[in-house]
Amino acid sequence: MAKSTLRKSLSHPGLLKAVRKEFEAIPETKPTAAISLTDHLMSGLAVFSLKCPSLLQFDNDRNTDITRHNLRSLYGIERAPCDTYLRERLDTVEPRVLRKAFKKAFSLLQRGKGLEGFTCLDGHYLLSVDGTGYFSSNRVHCAHCCEKHHRDGHTSYYHQLLGAVLVHPGHREVFPLAPEPILKDDGASKNDCERNAAKRLLTDLRREHPHLKLIVVEDSLASNGPHIRLLQDLNLRFILGAKQSDHQYLFQWVNSSKQTQSYAYTDESGTHQRFRFLNGVPLNDASHDLEVNFIEYWETSTSGKIQHFAWVTDLTLKTTSLMPLMRAGRARWRVENETYNTLKNQGYHFEHNFGHGYKHLSTVIAYLMMLAFLLDQIQQRCCGLFQRAMKKEKRHLYFWQRVRALFLNCLIANWQALYQNIAEGIQPQSVPYFDTS
Ligand SMILES: [Zn+2]
Repeated sequence: MAKSTLRKSLSHPGLLKAVRKEFEAIPETKPTAAISLTDHLMSGLAVFSLKCPSLLQFDNDRNTDITRHNLRSLYGIERAPCDTYLRERLDTVEPRVLRKAFKKAFSLLQRGKGLEGFTCLDGHYLLSVDGTGYFSSNRVHCAHCCEKHHRDGHTSYYHQLLGAVLVHPGHREVFPLAPEPILKDDGASKNDCERNAAKRLLTDLRREHPHLKLIVVEDSLASNGPHIRLLQDLNLRFILGAKQSDHQYLFQWVNSSKQTQSYAYTDESGTHQRFRFLNGVPLNDASHDLEVNFIEYWETSTSGKIQHFAWVTDLTLKTTSLMPLMRAGRARWRVENETYNTLKNQGYHFEHNFGHGYKHLSTVIAYLMMLAFLLDQIQQRCCGLFQRAMKKEKRHLYFWQRVRALFLNCLIANWQALYQNIAEGIQPQSVPYFDTS
């Protein structure tokens, strides 16, 4: 399907309608309240969809005739709560119940053929898994904060999130699946760790997507026996970083084997690429029976700059698979560059403290932000009108500023009218009411 065609299910109204339906299925946490849980969740989503810098800003904005109208026409919100109520209610929401909204958006993307051209290495999707911190304080904390006890006696509190993002070496867009928080469980004395979170994340993911052909790409911390056995148990392929300092046994084996092969190539730009590889190498002394395939890569630019990478994988290595495998391994960085950096620096305010809460607020906010980002990424890849509107504003931040300015100042009938206005460069004061009907 041509990229410029508007696919209804993959444009903002279709996606928001589907997400709203999933929110409506979540049991009410406060059945007698005047404002529904769905309106609270949709308001939380709208905060990040509209790139509001704070919940207080959303509170200040929500009560004009224009914004009340627009929250209803664009997000289906009957009544938006004040920031205090919004924090209080979101704090009661168990974050796991939001997983279904991610799954729904992903299945729409898949069914709408939005993932065409996103596979590599025999029809697999690449799933980059990596953690990031998004909250740290010496004072503010909740029941689930991880704790760090410092030598001078003070304690710092922090939250981290493990993200799982579909990436492709040839595409800028990334598609996050439901993330997994790295937290302290109720009553637990020890902090959670990234490895435990990865186990929960990958097990849930496999249950929700039992047939998805996936290659997990991770850094060298994941190249350990227990984690690789988990990946094998879950029928997940892998390309994992390998560092000589952490895998001396593996590197010595490769150095001394007579079967180790080399391959070199200089492309038309003059960049020199060199590989060496070996199938069936024991991972380490402790996991001698666990065999992996080893690939090492050096890239020398015309200026003489050398980049070096090494990975272990369960994909069989042969000369023809080296290039795509190297590109797939390097696409791991997209979870950092295209996901976390975008969330931190491109309008979503990932590291801003939107409120911490006592139970779940901090995690629910991170989930809603990631969900808003997923819907934006789907539009960016699949909605021609969105692409035209974004192109008009040239930079993502300018585009979001324009969306917010129109949201605050003009009555907007629907998303199509909003994006059309931006794409066609109509000044807001000349069209106080946008309607395409
Ligand atoms: Zn906390």
